[in-house]
Amino acid sequence: MPALMGQMMQMPLLISSLVRHAARHSADTEIVSKRVEGDMHRTTWAEVELRSRKLAQALARLGCEAGDRVATLAWNGYRHLEIYYGASGSQLVCHTINPRLFPEQIVWIANDAADKVLCFELNFLPLIEKIAPQLGSVKHFVLMAGRSHMPANSPIPNLLCYEELVEAENGDYAWPEFDENTASSICYTSGTTGNPKGAVYSHRSSVLHAYAAALPDAMDCAASDVVLPVVPMFHVNAWGLPYACALVGCKVVMPGPHLDGKSLYELFENEKVSFSAGVPTVWLGLLTYVKSNNLKFSTFKRTVIGGSACPPAMMKTLQEDFGVEVIHAWGMTELSPLGTLSKLKAKHAELPQDARQRLLEKQGRVIYGIDMAIIDDDGKSLPWDGSSSGNLVVRGPWVIDRYFGKTDESPLVSVDGVGGWFPTGDVATIDADGFMQITDRSKDVIKSGGEWISSIDLENIAMAHPAVHEAAAIAARHPKWDERPLLVVVKKPNAEVTRDELLQFFEGRIAKWQIPDDVVFVSEIPHTATGKIQKLKLRDQFKDHRLPTI
Ligand code: ADP
Repeated sequence: MPALMGQMMQMPLLISSLVRHAARHSADTEIVSKRVEGDMHRTTWAEVELRSRKLAQALARLGCEAGDRVATLAWNGYRHLEIYYGASGSQLVCHTINPRLFPEQIVWIANDAADKVLCFELNFLPLIEKIAPQLGSVKHFVLMAGRSHMPANSPIPNLLCYEELVEAENGDYAWPEFDENTASSICYTSGTTGNPKGAVYSHRSSVLHAYAAALPDAMDCAASDVVLPVVPMFHVNAWGLPYACALVGCKVVMPGPHLDGKSLYELFENEKVSFSAGVPTVWLGLLTYVKSNNLKFSTFKRTVIGGSACPPAMMKTLQEDFGVEVIHAWGMTELSPLGTLSKLKAKHAELPQDARQRLLEKQGRVIYGIDMAIIDDDGKSLPWDGSSSGNLVVRGPWVIDRYFGKTDESPLVSVDGVGGWFPTGDVATIDADGFMQITDRSKDVIKSGGEWISSIDLENIAMAHPAVHEAAAIAARHPKWDERPLLVVVKKPNAEVTRDELLQFFEGRIAKWQIPDDVVFVSEIPHTATGKIQKLKLRDQFKDHRLPTI
């Protein structure tokens, strides 16, 4: 007998449904943006949706057809949000490019994606004027500004004005219905570990990810929240917040390029921000500003920190000094990006405070939709005992199964002989409650005489020293042990600590043989375009470093 089929409506999961929902049910809820132009701009979900439809009309008038790529080089702001919805909603593919990449990388990525339209903000005009001749596929350059900001003369042929394009349309446009598996957007990995690769998200994967992101055990977004995504919209779609915020219909505050401590603090206070998300480095800047000016947050309640390991000391400062809950999260471009977040279970309520804290410091549990495993080098799964560490693999409806343009190469691997798992390149443990902890990126692990030392563990300890602003642990060459840990440190302004004092600080906090062999003090640690420590560059910088022999 054939199975009885469900008798529910077939409605494709489309990104346009998110903004339509927000416009209908949270019409007057504000989207506030600090613009590149320097001023504040206020709009609503209703207006964003209307202007997204106008933009869809304008893109069609420019000759864009289903599947064409519309690239952005832009900060977090309402126009960027309109492109997210206007492009994806009309079956085009929104391609966010990270403007912090080197110009040649931007050219490479735009050409690889074969972008047809490039929308960019005012401060990128000089850059685009320089690289435009190399962007062979781009037919239309759009400056995301009003008429008054258009340059009188520009070497860019037929430079278009975003506001003029939008304002010329009447908005009489119905969001089209199409297959939910259609591509919605492309995001390139930042290339920290090789050439950038494109992850192509679908409408279905993005909507499912938005549902998951908003769950209480994930980002816990609600209509009562005021959300400030510090994480840029070019860094894995601001971790899905532009979609999740529409799904719950909350107020959104967009910082534009103004990510320094002072600007962020003022925005948090003036707009009554309750929730935020970003990589650890941005919190370093904000916390330094807030502490040195003896300020407090009046509405800020919780934040997601991820993208690289959140140092426990930072977590503690936010929790104890400012009453801000920190949700430690792990993810990747290839996962849209959310994989795990650290939220406790009911049974953990009984645990002593420090045991609870240790769980919260882990990268956390998967959200429903993601499945994970740790495997050895032969693909055999390892136990979830909190101590066996192995290669972390994942699968789920918002995990890529191949990279853009590489249809013939599958990155997937097998677990216990069953294929279909994405290898993350991270090394992790998983405990019996499903709390995953990243030990390291496989490329960053320090291999000392066949034993592995976690660079994250060393960095977390160093960051707990009151004189340390930022720390990176890297492998330095050693004649006997092959590699030994070298700690690279930026001191806090006006703070003093010596090499020996810092090394002593490790004693009793980690096994003796894992304590770094040496410390070097630098004025700055290099960061990648997404704000992570650039280990590759550091390793190169210190490749000739001679470790002390005793
Ligand atoms: P890229 O791989 O190009 O740097 P991604 O933003 O996709 O760009 O980086 C994903 C990687 O970032 C993960 O594989 C992991 O190594 C690291 N990462 C993300 N979140 C965390 C976290 N909370 N703790 C430790 N590492 C993290």
